[in-house]
Amino acid sequence: SYKNLNTMLSGINAGLARCFSRRLHSPINTLRTAIAQRQIAPFYQPFIDARSGQIAGIEVLARWRHPLYGYVSPDVFIPLAEKHHLIVPLTHLLMEQVVTDLQHQIHRFPHGTYICINISAQNCLDPRFECDTREMVRKLKANQSHVVVEITERHPLHFTPQLNEWFAALRRADISLALDDFGTGYSNLAYISALNPEFIKIDKQFVSQIGVSDDTRLVDSLIDLAKNMRLKIIAEGVETEAQANYLRSKRIDYLQGFYFSKPLSASELIYQVATR
Ligand code: C2E
Ligand code: MG
Ligand code: MG
Ligand code: MG
Repeated sequence: SYKNLNTMLSGINAGLARCFSRRLHSPINTLRTAIAQRQIAPFYQPFIDARSGQIAGIEVLARWRHPLYGYVSPDVFIPLAEKHHLIVPLTHLLMEQVVTDLQHQIHRFPHGTYICINISAQNCLDPRFECDTREMVRKLKANQSHVVVEITERHPLHFTPQLNEWFAALRRADISLALDDFGTGYSNLAYISALNPEFIKIDKQFVSQIGVSDDTRLVDSLIDLAKNMRLKIIAEGVETEAQANYLRSKRIDYLQGFYFSKPLSASELIYQVATR
């Protein structure tokens, strides 16, 4: 009867609701499923050579579009993945996808294009990451492209002999390091020389001050510090022409930000490079 059917349907609905609420209240299971189902994909933000204006490299940025909840920011799911030990499988998934996206396209990019991967402290010492980067170098070696690993200075690493050896192995595999979010965390000279990066990325919070405040002493001294240490500088978060011009006048090597390009899907990136 009608009544029975209704009771049955409401039973099913209640069951479904329980399922969903359990999922909703367990972001970590949602994230685990997202990794298993490959809902998280790499996007690519180009950065340019400040002098020539040519594309110099691309930064891989994780993007998660959940089928029900929509876009979830990396500022939310990366810390969650770090907390629950999911960053290693997530990084692995992204690196596999980067190789798939780029291996037959990398020849379209300028010679020596940098491919920058963000990592967390938990990726360090992980032998799988070392394998993945070697694989990436092997498959993307056309055009002498360079793999760069970006490490934030927000959560400083503790340098043990094993960690030093892990970095040495990356270097032997011809992988460079970039110190990300420079100026927001440690910016400690001993730390920088222990990490021995090839690049530093000046955090967007300093770049965003250019043109807003007359006081550029902070960004100027970060630039001076990096130059004195003979590091190549990438300025991130460049949003205006005034900021780009100021940074060019300071002889910064590379510029990155929405003024030049937002992060792009693989197909958008390849289309842009092909039609440049
Ligand atoms: P990040 O590595 O410092 O990346 C730069 C962030 O600034 C990105 O945010 C990028 O979309 C954003 N951005 C770029 N240009 C501009 C600009 O002109 N203006 C402004 N306001 N923002 C700009 P996103 O993609 O949301 O990523 C946030 C952070 O999440 C990243 O900061 C990085 O620390 C982390 N992250 C993203 N993907 C990964 C990943 O695959 N692995 C790890 N470990 N961390 C990741
Ligand atoms: Mg980065
Ligand atoms: Mg950064
Ligand atoms: Mg940042």
